[in-house]
Amino acid sequence: MSNLLKGNKYEWEIVIGLEIHAQVKSNSKLFSNSSTAFGSKPNSQVSLVDAAMPGMLPVINSYCVEQAIKTGIGLNAEINNYSVFDRKNYFYADLPQGYQISQYKFPIVGEGKVSIDFKDGSSKDIRIVRLHLEQDAGKSLHDQNPTKTYVDLNRSGVALMEIVSEPDIRSAEEAGLYISKIRSILMYLDTCDGNMQEGSLRADVNISVRRPGEEYGTRCEIKNLNSIKFIKQAINYEAKRQIEILEEGGIIEQNTLLFNTNSGKTRPMRSKEEAHDYRYFPDPDLLPLEIDQKVIDKLVKSIPELPDERKRKYVEEYNLSNYDASVLTADKSVSDFFDRVINSDNLLKDSAKIVVNWITSELFSLLKENNIEIAHSPISPEHLGRMVKLIKEDIISGKIAKDVLIEMFESKAGPEIIIEKKGLRQLTNTNEIENIVDEVLQENKKMVEQYLSGKDKLLGFFVGQSMKKSKGKANPKILNDILKIKLSKKN
Ligand code: ADP
Ligand code: MG
Repeated sequence: MSNLLKGNKYEWEIVIGLEIHAQVKSNSKLFSNSSTAFGSKPNSQVSLVDAAMPGMLPVINSYCVEQAIKTGIGLNAEINNYSVFDRKNYFYADLPQGYQISQYKFPIVGEGKVSIDFKDGSSKDIRIVRLHLEQDAGKSLHDQNPTKTYVDLNRSGVALMEIVSEPDIRSAEEAGLYISKIRSILMYLDTCDGNMQEGSLRADVNISVRRPGEEYGTRCEIKNLNSIKFIKQAINYEAKRQIEILEEGGIIEQNTLLFNTNSGKTRPMRSKEEAHDYRYFPDPDLLPLEIDQKVIDKLVKSIPELPDERKRKYVEEYNLSNYDASVLTADKSVSDFFDRVINSDNLLKDSAKIVVNWITSELFSLLKENNIEIAHSPISPEHLGRMVKLIKEDIISGKIAKDVLIEMFESKAGPEIIIEKKGLRQLTNTNEIENIVDEVLQENKKMVEQYLSGKDKLLGFFVGQSMKKSKGKANPKILNDILKIKLSKKN
């Protein structure tokens, strides 16, 4: 219920459904053998089919079909043995066929669901209505010439999966979690590269608002958002806009909107009256797609471990919280790295939480500062594992370990070499620590008196001074114990 949004008069609930377009990871297009490589010279990857030359016939790319089926399996969805390609007719400069080949009444994948995880440890299921295969369009280039628009057809005919959700999403935050989860699943499956900047994953966001308990309101659809940040901004702006209209007694018109990423506002693209009649009909050039159950069964067996399974394993075997486990598994490369650390030494299995902390705080910030992906981390999982083990074995303190980690990052060396070379090994020898403590107490006689007359807080000062004298190397527990004993003896 914390999701309710306060208007001037009432509280409102936001209702959101997403249509996600995910580019199928495949070397060639849905109905032709042209390359799908990103960033190539304009119109260098356009076959006669993609350019819609008369008489050209589409031939289905079975790999793209398999990718869609795998995705359906990963979304816990029904796979349809029978599906149909339809023509969706509309006229636009970047659509040479004059229609897009898509799936309408009979999509390849039916109902499914994915779960999203919240910080407080709870989760929620978002239902999937369907997933269908369709062609991408080309791209109009408006910024190449002051008076002309050019067209690049490299993207024309590339396979997309459209994943449609039920309107189960209730806030911008949930929408962000949902699209991140979908992205994560697709990347584990290797069916989409998940690159939102390059447009491999983008979403149309449908939004309405209602008073709690009422029927769904009229929705607006914001087209083509390619970042989670923009999706959240657009939802919050649009929900407020609708609430204002409704509270002033107005009605929401079912419009298609565009989001301006500079102003953070939505504006109408077309109204329902201007909506296209796509005149869908089965594409006569393509037979219905009939998939043998054996093919599906074989693909089921090929599905790798997905984020939810890994999450469960982390919670059950390593005692991590649901949230920690979901953060770790969201990005496959992070999860892979963690697995390698944990598997590098049996002793680390009981210290999973410590390993998580080192990865998500210190290592992440070093990687971010240097703009390096975790898959290319200069600190190998094995080295990080050894460093955590050295902390556990009291060879170095956690504080020193932070410096060691930076050194490991810069030199790619293992922790032991750095510790030996720089003499960072923790002092655990009680005699040596005692000597240091004695010196500190000797040097601060006044303070000692104050401590003994009741100023307990000074203990921290003595700890700090002794630690400094040991160059940060004294074992903190031993140091504390010795200080307490020495100071009580003085009583
Ligand atoms: P269409 O066929 O016109 O695109 P759909 O029924 O397929 O409409 O819905 C498209 C998307 O809009 C789906 O993701 C769905 O969850 C969402 N949606 C439907 N009704 C609402 C609503 N009242 N508020 C918000 N989203 C909605
Ligand atoms: Mg739709």
